[in-house]
Amino acid sequence: MNDFSYTQPATAKEATALRKDTPTAAYIAGGTTLLDLMKAHLQEPPQLIDITRLPFTGIELTTDGLRIGALERMSTVGEHPLVVQQFPAVSQSLLLAASPQLRNMASIGGNILQRTRCGYFRDAAFPCNKRVAGSGCPALTGDNHNLAILGVSDSCIATAYPGDLSVALAALDAVLTLENQKGKQRRVPVTAFYLLPGTTPHKETVLEPGELIVAVTIPTAAHAQRSTYLKVRERSSYAYALASAAVGLDVQSGTIRSARVALGGVGAQPWRSREAETVLTGAPATEATFRAAAAAALQGARPREQNRFKVELAQNTLVRALQQLAG
Ligand SMILES: Cc1cc2nc3c(=O)[nH]c(=O)nc-3n(C[C@H](O)[C@H](O)[C@H](O)COP(=O)(O)OP(=O)(O)OC[C@H]3O[C@@H](n4cnc5c(N)ncnc54)[C@H](O)[C@@H]3O)c2cc1C
Ligand code: SF4
Repeated sequence: MNDFSYTQPATAKEATALRKDTPTAAYIAGGTTLLDLMKAHLQEPPQLIDITRLPFTGIELTTDGLRIGALERMSTVGEHPLVVQQFPAVSQSLLLAASPQLRNMASIGGNILQRTRCGYFRDAAFPCNKRVAGSGCPALTGDNHNLAILGVSDSCIATAYPGDLSVALAALDAVLTLENQKGKQRRVPVTAFYLLPGTTPHKETVLEPGELIVAVTIPTAAHAQRSTYLKVRERSSYAYALASAAVGLDVQSGTIRSARVALGGVGAQPWRSREAETVLTGAPATEATFRAAAAAALQGARPREQNRFKVELAQNTLVRALQQLAG
């Protein structure tokens, strides 16, 4: 790990001013992602700006929906009664992520900004277009068994966001509140926050330099209250998703009134599937409808040799999640 200085500002204004003075400095919240990247020499910030004293806390119902401060811990949010009862997919996505120790340490903002688990990205000995623009992508012909099949490009096939929470947030129309270095706030839907790789896989989000995530707001809705998150992984704990599905359904008299669908582990970003939602909305809540929705969700898949299995896996995961809700 490189040498660095450490500061703990008390306000967002101080934190962003420090980043302005040293643009290569890094914010640190729980440190569970950042310190790993520093130990591997993949990030070498000369200064760490500890943001844990900023007032980005609280879990409360507002007129816009449930507002969660970006510095709340994953475990606190996952176990909070409002989240468990009114946004079950969000609670489940958090409690199925990482380990209890990590969840106690890690923040919501840090979770949203975690980096890809592509092995080539995490090994400085290999070239990687996401790390160094234009350097190449060994995953195209190498180990790609857990990489993405939707939204990929010839420059990068990684699941840029490998985690769980943002998949549930994307399904439930969550909106991020961001604050820039001038103290100005803006709101960005989670579905517009992550960028597809295209020819610029090193640009992962719309976050501007020094901008902070302040909070996430999830609108209350019938499909949010009747929602679930299903995660399929290689072992029963402590593993990222091979495929996952966040689903919200409002079913009345056997007919689907509204549906929300997002997939994890298979997209170059948390993958909201409007195609699946179109198939589901207004249709009977039957297995035939669910299978048609799953086929629509994976229609644009571009798998490679080792991750071809994910097409069927993701379809089955989505069908199972829909069945759980409808059943
Ligand atoms: C072994 C292991 C297994 C894991 N398994 C899973 C899993 O199954 N599912 C899953 O979802 N996650 C998993 N994770 C990832 C874990 O959830 C993240 O490491 C964690 O959520 C990051 O939060 P943090 O607060 O520690 O972030 P940090 O490491 O402090 O920060 C991460 C990044 O976000 C930036 N940042 C943090 N907060 C803000 C903010 N408010 N505004 C702007 N920038 C900010 C930092 O500058 C940094 O670049 C795993 C991690 C490990 C190490
Ligand atoms: S898939 Fe993306 S992250 Fe992985 S090596 Fe290729 S460019 Fe890098």
